[in-house]
Amino acid sequence: MRLGVILNRVFRMQHNPLFEYVIQHQNEIDQLYLILPIEDLSDAANVKRDDYEKVVKGFVHTLNQHEIYPHMLNYDQLGVLVDDLALSHVLMPQDIMSYHQSIYDYPHMKRAFENHQVKVIGQRVNHYFQPSQTLNQQQQPYKVFTSFYKANRKNLVHRHYKVDAYKQVAKIAEKGTNQAHLQINDSEDMEKSARQDWATFLNTDISDYKRRTDDISQDYVSGLSRFLAYGLLDIREVMNDLLAGYDSDEINYEAFIREVMFREFYYVLMTKYPQTATQSFSEKYRGMQWSTNPSHFESWKSGQTGYPIVDAAMKKLNRTGLMHNRLRMVVSQFLTKHLFIDWTWGEAYFRQYLLDYDNASNVHGWQWSASTGTDAVPYFRMFNPIRQSERFDPNGYFIKTELEVFDDVRPQYLHHPTRYKAQLKENHHIEIGKDCPEVIVEHKKSRDYVMQQFKNIGPSN
Ligand SMILES: Cc1cc2nc3c(=O)[nH]c(=O)nc-3n(C[C@H](O)[C@H](O)[C@H](O)COP(=O)(O)OP(=O)(O)OC[C@H]3O[C@@H](n4cnc5c(N)ncnc54)[C@H](O)[C@@H]3O)c2cc1C
Repeated sequence: MRLGVILNRVFRMQHNPLFEYVIQHQNEIDQLYLILPIEDLSDAANVKRDDYEKVVKGFVHTLNQHEIYPHMLNYDQLGVLVDDLALSHVLMPQDIMSYHQSIYDYPHMKRAFENHQVKVIGQRVNHYFQPSQTLNQQQQPYKVFTSFYKANRKNLVHRHYKVDAYKQVAKIAEKGTNQAHLQINDSEDMEKSARQDWATFLNTDISDYKRRTDDISQDYVSGLSRFLAYGLLDIREVMNDLLAGYDSDEINYEAFIREVMFREFYYVLMTKYPQTATQSFSEKYRGMQWSTNPSHFESWKSGQTGYPIVDAAMKKLNRTGLMHNRLRMVVSQFLTKHLFIDWTWGEAYFRQYLLDYDNASNVHGWQWSASTGTDAVPYFRMFNPIRQSERFDPNGYFIKTELEVFDDVRPQYLHHPTRYKAQLKENHHIEIGKDCPEVIVEHKKSRDYVMQQFKNIGPSN
């Protein structure tokens, strides 16, 4: 066969199932071409576009150092390349959820290749489980996380695989062209730095993961989501490491494994119910009359809601493309349960910015907060942003990193500045409405309104 291997979002040399496949089927391959289609991120935030480019360049640089030169081009040029190379087969990832545009995902690409009479071989590269092997007795996906977790946790086992299949690939792959005109030069090896960061986490912060995971004043989390979104690390490798260290500290390792299982849970659900990418999981809430207040949405996006924890989180997202899980819950609940704006608007905004964007985790994270999802927070549970701020950033360390105006302000005033208007003016010369925004909605009032909207429809089905 004349085989093209699609490498996007499997940006790693080691533990790469696409390379493993090539080695296992070497005898059937007459010509081998590696192809790296570049995503169009023109509608993404600069911070996300720049990060993607940095990671791609780093990967190509490392490939080149090993004498591997993939064809680089834009997705819309793929059809022509496939014809020019007269490919009979393409090998491509079948389980990536982090593409910025859904047209790059497996079902869309498979159809496009088949239209060119090219056979498609799908390979799991980015998730631990094959969805069909995780189902309940009725052969349906579990809809409650704890059931999924209990049923599938025992199937996490140490797996053996070939680490350095790329060495063999280098010997047989044809040299490609750089139609995307990327300047590679001395780009950083991002796989190496991902592996180092992951090792550091295993040697340090995991030992206090359960207790400190929600502490937003410092970063005690792993940063793994970004590595997985780009395919810089292999989930099998991650699980092997977790199982290897497990006996040294069961409580913290189990807490971490549980989180990674959420990613698998949402992935399985999304393969079965792809329509929930844009539709509420719960049918009942599909007709909800969400608010379309543009000024509220703008205030949320730019971090001008008057609730410092929400504003600091959004400013951090806009600046870095990153946000802690606790803050994702706070800002998503604020958008859906205070401003009563459709979760799909928030989901789309996160997609533009998040470096670790993953369609399944993002959609289900949003639907959890909006109470429209499966195993979601009940609609009557609504985060109070002031209380969240007091609990998870008691000294205001996080808020102060993003909202300089509060640099010297006592923590007590930070969580709800509007309540301490007079003190802020007198002691710190900070004027609410001028130096920092007035709250755009009042917590109690919006709570009552939103509860009523959900009550009118009734509990989710
Ligand atoms: C509204 C909302 C949107 C989200 N969007 C995304 C997204 O686009 N991409 C994404 O990877 N995660 C998303 N999450 C889940 C979670 O916030 C991130 O996975 C986590 O913050 C990543 O940081 P970390 O790797 O340092 O986390 P750690 O605490 O170190 O967790 C380790 C790993 O566990 C998995 N994980 C942890 N929590 C969750 C969760 N709630 N759902 C699914 N997987 C989880 C991730 O793979 C993560 O890398 C979202 C959550 C919410 C509430």
